[in-house]
Amino acid sequence: MNKFSILKDHFGYTSFRPGQEEVIDAVLGGRDTLAVMPTGAGKSLCYQIPALLLPGMTIVLSPLISLMKDQVNALCEAGCRAAFLNSSLSRDEYDSTMEQIFRSELKLLYIAPERLQKTEMSQIANSGEVPLVVIDEAHCVSQWGHDFRPGYLQITDFISRLDSRPVTAAFTATATPKVRGDIERLLGLRSPFSIITGFDRPNLYFEVQKPKDKKAALLECLDKWKDSSGIIYCATRKAVEEMYEFLLRRNFLAVRYHAGLEDDERRKNQDDFLFDRKTLMVATNAFGMGIDKSNVSFVIHYNMPKNIESYYQEAGRAGRDGAPADCILLYNGQDVRINQFLITHSEDGEGADSALQEHNLELLKQMTFYAAGSGCLRQRLLSYFGEHGPAFCGHCSNCLTEFEETDISLEARKIISCVYRLKQRNRSFGKTMIIDILRGSKNEKIKRFGLDTLSTWGIMADNDIHRIRTILDYLIDKGCLGQEGDEYPVVTLGAYEDILREERQLFMKLPKERITPKQYRTEPFQTEQFRAEQSGTSTGPLSAEMNPPAAAESPPWPKSKGSPPAIPASGRKAPASREAPFDETLFAKLRDLRKNLAAREGFPAYIVFSDASLRDMCRKQPVSLVQFSGINGVGSVKLEKYGEAFTELIRDYAAKR
Ligand code: ADP
Ligand code: MG
Repeated sequence: MNKFSILKDHFGYTSFRPGQEEVIDAVLGGRDTLAVMPTGAGKSLCYQIPALLLPGMTIVLSPLISLMKDQVNALCEAGCRAAFLNSSLSRDEYDSTMEQIFRSELKLLYIAPERLQKTEMSQIANSGEVPLVVIDEAHCVSQWGHDFRPGYLQITDFISRLDSRPVTAAFTATATPKVRGDIERLLGLRSPFSIITGFDRPNLYFEVQKPKDKKAALLECLDKWKDSSGIIYCATRKAVEEMYEFLLRRNFLAVRYHAGLEDDERRKNQDDFLFDRKTLMVATNAFGMGIDKSNVSFVIHYNMPKNIESYYQEAGRAGRDGAPADCILLYNGQDVRINQFLITHSEDGEGADSALQEHNLELLKQMTFYAAGSGCLRQRLLSYFGEHGPAFCGHCSNCLTEFEETDISLEARKIISCVYRLKQRNRSFGKTMIIDILRGSKNEKIKRFGLDTLSTWGIMADNDIHRIRTILDYLIDKGCLGQEGDEYPVVTLGAYEDILREERQLFMKLPKERITPKQYRTEPFQTEQFRAEQSGTSTGPLSAEMNPPAAAESPPWPKSKGSPPAIPASGRKAPASREAPFDETLFAKLRDLRKNLAAREGFPAYIVFSDASLRDMCRKQPVSLVQFSGINGVGSVKLEKYGEAFTELIRDYAAKR
């Protein structure tokens, strides 16, 4: 058994996600670890796989009692020996778990930190080897975090009572440097392996709306995601109650969750949501930590949260399985004032701790910039966590209102043809030079190499430099063009043929066109960036000195392939290549089957299979068990348990079509 076989056999995945392997290796190598990875990144596997490989029983400290059962069920479903100890167990269940512990039958034991003071813990500590202690949601140890839990402060004491010190691994989704420092110190991590993986969640679409009528805006969002699970966060208990009533009156399958409800009702409502019996969860921020329901399709914030960390954590509960999901914030200025009030009147914020209060007001300011500002929303979120995303993600409401889907086929052909022509002359250049040629520059280098005799010289003289550059980057990103060389990379041809042949249209999001009149600038080019890049231009290995320009050019499209190049476009449109449409009908059937199977087991549906697995089934439509084993999320236990039912459904479905 090794980490790869466990990944496939137990969890049904074929490759690790970013960061997972490094963390697993560090833990297995005996190193304390602090991993900051975004919600949905797959932190659980980072400790579950080592736990299965190490001798003895790993202890996982996790803050929410109500969710341990699901986590443990999911592990058992994957064929792992796991159990939990908390106050929800009956006497018999408790005894039987303790027996399993004493018989050394368990690989993973989940407990709440508050339990660490109980006497049973010393029995457990002495019952066998504890190679690894995991602290999930580790930011709860810090007062600077947004979910401080005093129980977390007992952890070091517990660890010190163990016979030999276990590897200690802490996981969290959101941690600023201050919180990271606290985690390391307060959990007593010893020169830990620290990893912060990218915070970006590409499948999440971010949107801020500033509607006059928030309720109408909300109903519109709900209309888009009919029948899918979603969370609606409201700022206060009262707001939750109002929203809940509002949705019930409109026959939505909604439940509510906030700290003012009885435990029983909270648990029932949470289960109704987790088990897909109800689709909408209306909640305060009391709901959600540790929730790993993977098929949440949208998170709507009806009010703006206090800070970006909370926002990203809450919004990040959407689309954990990697399927497309929406994160929508309905904003108005009043949200800022309510938050200011909550901060300055909360226990945290009063009196002596005015530093904390100020800190919180500063965080609120940043959240307000997110909600009210322009520019890419994703970039703003990522830069909060110290990451630099591109200025345009193309997948948030700001990008989409400031940018539009544009047919770039013609421009793409022009750019590719330029690279093609250069290749015919045995030359290759960096991006800046290509742009210069296309724009018809007469700079010294162009004249020296006779590039102004190229047929593609000046064919984009009317286009904005930044636009050409954006499209050129896009073509490289999509593999239509390539790049070679490290220090001074030159642009090369990639998979470009179908574009030149006009068999494929290309679309991309570009800034809404500012029509630039014909205004070709003579050198020098104006922008700093442009100048800096020019010095990086390379003539590549086959330079003009060695290869004098060809007297006459052959066409940029190889003659043998028949079709001549189209520069400029001939107006003929070839059908664009498209992905096969997603089979919604099959998806709905698979979802029903999943729900029934899960209900029979008493599990939330996503524990049987995630939405991502169902989507993979829709795409691949496996009809045999062998084919089914290739589905994302199908390990050997689930193959045996569910393979027949799902493949039978797919066979029937295919036969009836
Ligand atoms: P986190 O705790 O980081 O928020 P989870 O551990 O709950 O995330 O994982 C989120 C989802 O990603 C789960 O459905 C999990 O099964 C899935 N997942 C984790 N690792 C992988 C992987 N390597 N390949 C595919 N899916 C994965
Ligand atoms: Mg988690």
